[in-house]
Amino acid sequence: MTITSDWHIHSLNSCDSASLPVADLPPAAARSGILDYGLTDHIHTPVNLPDLVASRADYLAADPSAHFHFGVEVSCVSQWELDELATGSHGEPVYGLRQGGPVGATPAIGIGPEDIERLGIEFVVGGVHWPLYIEIERDAVIRDYHRQYMYLATHPLVDVIAHPWWWMGHWKDENDRYLADPWFDDFGRIPLSMHDELAAAAIEHGKAIEINISACLLNAAYPDDFGRRYVEEYLGYMSRRGVTFSIGSDCHSREYAVDFPGVGSMLDSIGLRDEQMWRLAPAQQAHR
Ligand SMILES: [Zn+2]
Ligand SMILES: [Zn+2]
Repeated sequence: MTITSDWHIHSLNSCDSASLPVADLPPAAARSGILDYGLTDHIHTPVNLPDLVASRADYLAADPSAHFHFGVEVSCVSQWELDELATGSHGEPVYGLRQGGPVGATPAIGIGPEDIERLGIEFVVGGVHWPLYIEIERDAVIRDYHRQYMYLATHPLVDVIAHPWWWMGHWKDENDRYLADPWFDDFGRIPLSMHDELAAAAIEHGKAIEINISACLLNAAYPDDFGRRYVEEYLGYMSRRGVTFSIGSDCHSREYAVDFPGVGSMLDSIGLRDEQMWRLAPAQQAHR
C-alpha cells in the first residue's frame, strides 16, 4: 500500500529527544507523499503543559494548510500522581511521578476538555509509556499494559491508541537492545483474549489502533524480525478483528525522513490498504 497519512509526529517541543522544527514539516511531508498529517507533541501531566502551548504557537506560525492538523500524544499516567503533583510539593518532574504510587493505581491522562478546547487540539493519540507501580515481571507488565490500553480505548477524549506493545526501560541489554523480555522473544506471551478485548473496545468506542513505524515496526532496539512478526501476529490479527488503523511515524528526529515505501510493503503482507486508514478530514475553519 502507499501510505499517505501520518498522525504521530513530534517536534522540538516534545520533552524527549525529538528535534524537528515545526516549519520544516509541511515541505518534508509533501516530499514524502504524505497528504494528511498531524503534529503530536507529548503531554504527560500538567507539569509539561507549556510544551504543548509552545507546540501550538509553532503550529500556528507555520501557517498550516487544512491538511496539517494539530494533535497531542497523551501518556497514560495515574490519578494518584496528578493529585500529588497538584499539591505542588514534588517540584516539576517532566515525566510525572514514576515511583511510589499504589499498585493498581487508577489510570488518568494529564489534560481535560478545557485544555483541548483552548489549545485547538483536533485529535488525541493516547500512549502507554510505563508500568504503573507494579513489580517488573513480564506477565505483570503485560497485565498492567493491557489495563492501561483498555483505559485509553474507553476514554472519551482519546482518538488513537498509540504503539500497542511498545516497550522501553527495564530489560535493555548491554547493546541497548530488548531481545527477550517482556514479549520480544515470544509475542504469543500476550494472551489473544487481550487483543480480542482491545479490538472490541476500540470498535465500540470508535478508536483507531496505531500502526507505529519508529516505535514498533522499525525499532532498531528490538529483534531484527520483530517488525515482521508484529505485522503478522498482531496487526494481522487485529485486522481480522475489524479494527480501524491509524498510521504514525512517531518521528523524533531532526529530519522528517521515514521509510514509508518500506513500511507500505510490510503492510501489503496482511492486505491493508491506505483507504482503510483513519484520517481527519481537512480542517474546515480558518485557523482555528
Ligand atoms: Zn508514545
Ligand atoms: Zn510519540
